[in-house]
Amino acid sequence: MTTTANELSYRIEQKRSINAEFPGPKSQALNERRAAVVAAGVSSGVPVYVEDADGGIIRDVDGNSFIDLGSGIAVTSVGASDPAVVAAVQEAATHFTHTCFMVTPYEGYVAVAEQLNRLTPGDHAKRTVLFNSGAEAVENAVKVARLATGRDAVVAFDHAYHGRTNLTMALTAKAMPYKTNFGPFAPEVYRMPMSYPFREENPDITGAEAARRAITMIEKQIGGDQVAAIIIEPIQGEGGFIVPAEGFLPALSAWAKDKGIVFIADEVQSGFCRTGEWFAVDHEGVVPDIITMAKGIAGGLPLSAITGRADLLDAVHPGGLGGTYGGNPVACAAALAAIGTMEQHDLNARARHIEELSLGKLRELQAELAASGASVIGDIRGRGAMLAIELVQAGSKEPNADLTKAVAAACLKEGVIILTCGTYGNVIRLLPPLVISDELLIDGLEVLAAAIKANA
Ligand SMILES: *Cc1c(COP(=O)(O)O)cnc(C)c1O
Repeated sequence: MTTTANELSYRIEQKRSINAEFPGPKSQALNERRAAVVAAGVSSGVPVYVEDADGGIIRDVDGNSFIDLGSGIAVTSVGASDPAVVAAVQEAATHFTHTCFMVTPYEGYVAVAEQLNRLTPGDHAKRTVLFNSGAEAVENAVKVARLATGRDAVVAFDHAYHGRTNLTMALTAKAMPYKTNFGPFAPEVYRMPMSYPFREENPDITGAEAARRAITMIEKQIGGDQVAAIIIEPIQGEGGFIVPAEGFLPALSAWAKDKGIVFIADEVQSGFCRTGEWFAVDHEGVVPDIITMAKGIAGGLPLSAITGRADLLDAVHPGGLGGTYGGNPVACAAALAAIGTMEQHDLNARARHIEELSLGKLRELQAELAASGASVIGDIRGRGAMLAIELVQAGSKEPNADLTKAVAAACLKEGVIILTCGTYGNVIRLLPPLVISDELLIDGLEVLAAAIKANA
């Protein structure tokens, strides 16, 4: 069944409006307070402070209303104040906010594990562990893979992003801003070429051939029997919403299986209906050995998870996995409610609808720009509500980061929050809440189109 926007209801008005003075006086005052106390290393893309958020709208302390095309980086897929999540959080917090699952356990943790084991790909026996952040999930997936295989090497890919802790910095590809001067990094991490169709030297290379290129390098530089895990984002997030060529992921995962290598799909950004399936690997029927999850999992509450083959996860000795806050009871209640909302409103269908609606508009824009001699849209890609446009110098593949920045700034002035990403800083990514109304999405896309045309 297709969900229409009519079945969704909103608490605050779903309309964009920006005051003449922007940022407003209250946000300016907060920015001054902030500068005196918050470390400069934490930066914010939007210079306003939030007061309220619901559906596709974020409202600031000065009464400006923005169309949210970022979802707090793919987190608030069910909206930033989904009534079911809010009610579940209130109910859970009334009883207990924490006991520590490793001390006195509670049902919510078990119920979330049941849901994740059900929703993740594959019908094999699975086990789940809960944590707080995406990076923590990735760290633990690697811990499990190393213990279970008795091997050290971990393979990651060009353009990868896996987090900001020491091991996940090592796995992440981009130096600035994530790694520069933060080393030394964790050892035994090897980086292999990704399948990046738009930037392949040989544009005809197939997914299987791109996989073979990486596999040959692994065999020559590491040795397949030395590798504990291959970790990959099925659609790369921070690296530029790169969708590998069809066949790349299946070929890699089949080779990993053959060599006893744990295939870890990092679905922290792409999971939970974002791409129009529960997980991005579902599009090609790939069944990972371990899957990492976070962002969209709990309607905005901090929760992350690893779900994987029971034989791998149960190989770890009792006490070997955990953490004080992992699987916090309020966050678990939020996750169960968020998953309920995803199923009730069929947010997978909603994500596919967003794809159809957005791709049509973006392709029109691309053709229009090309016809006027300003072909700055090099590539349009993505799946579901995880879509991107890669901006280039007109008529070439040269990345155009300046245009990307200018477009994001122009959108913000008009009341549309747009995130950028990419190794070359030249990708505009669209990550709207899946509950955004068609009207609001179309308005946001029209603002984006006008901003690109004005700055191209
Ligand atoms: C965001 C992200 C992470 C890190 O998650 P945090 O919660 O920020 O630690 C890891 N992997 C991917 C693919 C991500 O997008």
